[in-house]
Amino acid sequence: MQIDLEFYSPVQQIHDQLFDEQGLKLFIKRDDLIDPIISGNKWRKLKYVLRDALSKNKTHLVTFGGAYSNHLLATAAAAAKFGFKATGIVRGEEVNNDTLFLCRLYGMNLLFTDRKSYRDKRALFEKHFGTDTEAYFIDEGGASALGAQGVSELIGELPATYDHIFCACGTGTTAAGIINGINDAMLATNFHGIPVLKNGEFLRTDIDTHLNNPAEYVLHTDYHFGGYAKTDDALINFIKKFTASTGILIDPVYTGKMLFAIYDLAVKNHFKSGDKILAIHTGGIWGLLGMKEKF
Ligand SMILES: *Cc1c(COP(=O)(O)O)cnc(C)c1O
Repeated sequence: MQIDLEFYSPVQQIHDQLFDEQGLKLFIKRDDLIDPIISGNKWRKLKYVLRDALSKNKTHLVTFGGAYSNHLLATAAAAAKFGFKATGIVRGEEVNNDTLFLCRLYGMNLLFTDRKSYRDKRALFEKHFGTDTEAYFIDEGGASALGAQGVSELIGELPATYDHIFCACGTGTTAAGIINGINDAMLATNFHGIPVLKNGEFLRTDIDTHLNNPAEYVLHTDYHFGGYAKTDDALINFIKKFTASTGILIDPVYTGKMLFAIYDLAVKNHFKSGDKILAIHTGGIWGLLGMKEKF
């Protein structure tokens, strides 16, 4: 079996008076178009992980996530596509929602776990699948060195060079992969991460673990909007306006916060005239469906 996807992830320019006035150019890499379900960074993070599982004859993927996890859903879809069995260990009491509905439809077996046991994922894996010789552990969010390796390939696909690259950060694996890609290609690009959780400086440790070489980068820690999956009116209004004026859907958990940050930094004159900025659309638009009532 071959673990590969042929995909289309173009770079497009976003036109907005704000950027014209400041002599800036904003581009977006459409990783959301990679696949409707195995979208964005989730495919990039899974690619080498699935190849590793296959090379070890592990045919049962076991992974972890919250009830709205894009990673659970991407893993369920990829498992079905490439012929793996899949189990998702879900944080919290049993619920049903659009994400879990699709996970089940792809054939993923779901195990709900109390929040306390959920913290020790290795122990949960051992408890439920310690004797399953085909079971393969994939950490929450696909966080891993192999995940970062997959993400770093994004840099080689870029049609031009940019002064700044921005992406949203959850586990920080995607950020680490992009930074590695920038360094491998010896680019002068500045990397900016937007942590979507509160007190995002803690991510520096997680990002640094997956860096091939020490690197400097910026984390803008003031764009979490109160924490993971939290929003406010300013963010929701920004998303409505952005989507209606560009035709590009963005979610309020990740890409919405990252683009809000770029616009806000531009308003605050953070960039120099002539700068080219690239935003990575990391996908995850199914997250919108869990948040309809906020719109
Ligand atoms: C999972 C996810 C992220 C976070 O990626 P990390 O590698 O965990 O930092 C960003 N954007 C979207 C849309 C995601 O689904």
